[in-house]
Amino acid sequence: MLYPLLFKTITKPKVWGREVWLLSGYGDEQSVVDNGFLKGNSLGEVLEVYMDELVGGKVYDRYGMLFPLLFKVIDANDNLSIQVHPDDEQAAAMLSEGDVEQLGKTEMWVVTDATDEASIVLGFARQTNAEEVKNSLAENTIMQLMQTVPVKKGDVALIKAGTVHALCKGTQVVEIQETSDITFRLYDYNRPGMDGKLRELHIPQALQVLDYSAMPHPLVDVKGTRPVANVVNDSHFTTNRLHFSSPLQRDYAPYDSFVVYIGLSGQTDIVYEGGMETLKAHQVCLVPAGLPDIQLVPKGECELLETLIVK
Ligand SMILES: [Zn+2]
Repeated sequence: MLYPLLFKTITKPKVWGREVWLLSGYGDEQSVVDNGFLKGNSLGEVLEVYMDELVGGKVYDRYGMLFPLLFKVIDANDNLSIQVHPDDEQAAAMLSEGDVEQLGKTEMWVVTDATDEASIVLGFARQTNAEEVKNSLAENTIMQLMQTVPVKKGDVALIKAGTVHALCKGTQVVEIQETSDITFRLYDYNRPGMDGKLRELHIPQALQVLDYSAMPHPLVDVKGTRPVANVVNDSHFTTNRLHFSSPLQRDYAPYDSFVVYIGLSGQTDIVYEGGMETLKAHQVCLVPAGLPDIQLVPKGECELLETLIVK
């Protein structure tokens, strides 16, 4: 019988800081189970055997053998490139035979740490167009078109495919995204990469998928308070923030979806029919769709993100 799965993390040093992949079914960069009798198996291998029992019938019908979401912690010691991602349809049109199977990329950030001056780039500051963006790149004035938003711990941003964005220096986020690694870099501050050369830009592709409308209120207005607040309800994922200090019953039967917990602070036991696992901060746990009844029993105060596919 399946049980809540814990995973080994994958750490990736970057020119601007560090990424830790908490849960990945992307290509051959698969997370590996770290508990129970499936220990040592990759997420892809578990999905191949358990299929809908792992992800839910509806999710399996939609995504097949592709685990649809990717979970990361991103530490930005420097500004990330100004970038944009395609949507599912655009990503599918780009795939050639033999390519790694992947989706478009809608992503969300939950800020888990931020310096006083921390900010993100999200959307254009005003309505613009491809011509103007191209010219401002040539004149090195592109940053004047960007909307820069100060962020603090707890803030949430939903970045739909097509939205120009960048994480900036001094920000740590948990990122929840579709399983995809297609990034079109629009601008990289003329900064050299790890090998000392300028990193490749993808300006024509970026211009093709950019949403040129202005985005006046980019941060998410989190609804509700404790113990359950809905953070995002998108067609690609639904995420709630659970903040609790006494046991919390969760019933996922109506959703027919896997559930992923990410520990933000504190520690909780995840009690299911047949046993118990413990989740700590910055750990991830994948609850199979076949286990719809879960009780969370915290040790003191506990905060975590709960993500599933509802729509
Ligand atoms: Zn991105």
